[in-house]
Amino acid sequence: MATAAEARTLLNFIAGQWRDAGTSEALEDRDPATGELAARVPLSGAADVDAAVGAARAAQPAWREVPPQERARAVLALRDALVRHRQELTALVTADMGKTLADADGEVGRGIESVESAAAIPHLLKGETLEGVAAGLDVEMVRQPVGVVAAITPFNFPAMIPLWFLPYAVACGNAFILKPSERDPRPAERICELIGEEEIFPPGVVNLIHGGREAVEAILDHKGVDAVSFVGQASTARLIAIRSAQTGKRVQALGGAKNSMIVADDADLESAVPAIMGSAFGAAGQRCLAGSVCVIAGDEARQAEVRDALRAAAEKLTIGPGADPGTDVCPMVAPEARQRAEAAVATAESEGAKVLLDGSVGGGEAGAMLGPTLVDVSDPESELAREEIFGPILALVSAPDLDAAIGFANGSRYGNAGSIFTTSGAAARAYRWGVEAGMLGVNIGVPAPVAWFPFSGWKDSIDGDLHANGKDAVDFYTRKKVVTSRW
Ligand code: NAD
Repeated sequence: MATAAEARTLLNFIAGQWRDAGTSEALEDRDPATGELAARVPLSGAADVDAAVGAARAAQPAWREVPPQERARAVLALRDALVRHRQELTALVTADMGKTLADADGEVGRGIESVESAAAIPHLLKGETLEGVAAGLDVEMVRQPVGVVAAITPFNFPAMIPLWFLPYAVACGNAFILKPSERDPRPAERICELIGEEEIFPPGVVNLIHGGREAVEAILDHKGVDAVSFVGQASTARLIAIRSAQTGKRVQALGGAKNSMIVADDADLESAVPAIMGSAFGAAGQRCLAGSVCVIAGDEARQAEVRDALRAAAEKLTIGPGADPGTDVCPMVAPEARQRAEAAVATAESEGAKVLLDGSVGGGEAGAMLGPTLVDVSDPESELAREEIFGPILALVSAPDLDAAIGFANGSRYGNAGSIFTTSGAAARAYRWGVEAGMLGVNIGVPAPVAWFPFSGWKDSIDGDLHANGKDAVDFYTRKKVVTSRW
């Protein structure tokens, strides 16, 4: 196992060069399965951010002049590099974040799709025209890049979420600064290495700054940053949105989630139960699309049937390191995350909830392991039913009928995602019509939109208006200019 002295300290990527951060302060980046120290992550400060912004500002005007179809070719070169290095990136995501190899491969694949989607930029950037709005008067709308944009990303998708933003931002003609999660920044580092090694973009178009809160605050306060894309907890999203507004930046801040999965009384349990298991316990419940509360609709006999089926399935799941092919439930990102999740279950129990399956397994080798946990909550407004725990914990809530189940789902302050399991078109339609959330699944546990569609939620799951990916990304990373002409 590497000691703190042996582990390498990560470097920032600025103007196409790898540079030391101007600080000796660093955090440890450990493998969640083994506890092994992989790297030290420097806590970059304002001077590092200023250097990155300077490089980005210097590179952006010439990058904007590159024709969109050539920028699209650069984006396709990034796509090819990611495809060639897919296995390596997958292994790195597992080692750094903890999720299973299958999950990590899916994550990298989703990231590649986001890059492919951004490669359509010549089409996506096209404006609009309207001739003859008065005699001899024509109007046209064009889209121009915002300038220098930054992305601040969370730990749970360390490859995919940076790739939600980077390809669209640069395809639109912006220069880009990435501040990945300090807990698992190595996949983002590797992506920037590929960009540098293969000279995919001119120096300064893509920059990487490691660090935590101080680096983020320096980005938010810097006058040279025009727009900020953020993904993380709802409380952080709110801070980012407020501070961005104070400094006049465009912002999209995607926050946390508490996604309900409704099991209607006519649901086919044979297909619903495995989907619910994957949603609640895959990636140890650390997905923003994880279903973390299951609303069982129907009479008491049906509720008991569903509860029993869920417990029987959860008991069969295999807990282990993400690198083991047989693992269903991987470790959480860090021992402190596990402790917080266990504490939330203990509180719920002390308030009268019934733990149907206790996932405490002593933390495992590295202390980050928590098995699938099923809790029948007595109070549907309790913390476990309403707040994001972000661990392999599924809260069960009962509802007499579909209306009551939808009412419970809409009582959440979040509105990221939600699912219904049903064999009735009418029930699915009522759900789709009435549920207040941005991403819905019908007989799907993890309703992740493909990259050609916008990704985000409603309510406290987003601060800002434009979602990530799809046409929303192009709207976010461009400014519209309307020209009225008479000749
Ligand atoms: P987090 O909010 O702790 O961190 C996200 C980023 O913000 C990191 O880069 C971190 O360095 C920075 N940060 C953290 N605290 C900060 C502060 N006080 N000031 C300035 N910067 C700060 O989030 P996380 O724990 O890394 O990620 C998990 C969260 O992300 C969950 O809540 C999950 O639901 C959410 N998430 C949402 C989506 C979505 O699409 N809505 C997608 C993925 C994850």
